[in-house]
Amino acid sequence: MSEGSLRAAIVATALTMNDAGINRGKSGNVSARLRRDGFDGFLVTPSALPYAQTTPADIACVSLAGDASGPRPPSSEWRFHRDIYAQRADAHAVVHAHAPFATSLACLHRGIPAFHYMVAVAGGSDIRCAPYATFGTQALSDNVIGALAGRTACLMANHGLIAVGRPLDAALSLAVEVETLAEMYWRALQVGEPVLLPDDEMHVVLAKFSAYGKP
Ligand SMILES: [Zn+2]
Repeated sequence: MSEGSLRAAIVATALTMNDAGINRGKSGNVSARLRRDGFDGFLVTPSALPYAQTTPADIACVSLAGDASGPRPPSSEWRFHRDIYAQRADAHAVVHAHAPFATSLACLHRGIPAFHYMVAVAGGSDIRCAPYATFGTQALSDNVIGALAGRTACLMANHGLIAVGRPLDAALSLAVEVETLAEMYWRALQVGEPVLLPDDEMHVVLAKFSAYGKP
């Protein structure tokens, strides 16, 4: 995909994120890895600009060293995007949203346990909640990297969720799936304590997921 197409796809993903109900207003952000002519970094939604007013030219470019370029500053939360791309070869797109149900659980410092087999969609038998740290800080980024170990999604305490994928629409789909799981878990908690699937069953599910769609 050309850089121009990638910029347009980031804007489209940010708009879809809000249309899909997993984010509201200007909170949240979207990025995609960019490698060209020896440059290794990512494109990310800019700071403080409503998505409806964001054009592909407004998308900021940030190197893995943290040097930003473009007409607008990158999202104030660019650090965890940078660290995900620096540390995860499988990361080609990152969607971060303040999704209502995922964030409600994260405000209780609760992750999503194996209450439903689809929890395996994030790569493990649970979806962790990263400990709280102030937005935009290296401490938050460090917490996120820890919560994402062996996973493609996590919640963020008192904050929101992150989904990592390839390409952008896969990261967005994962974010929507995590929010759906969070809503189901939240609803189940209203009635009682959900019955969790045992580890051996989640291992069976994970094996089926890794074989899914392969000949
Ligand atoms: Zn945020």
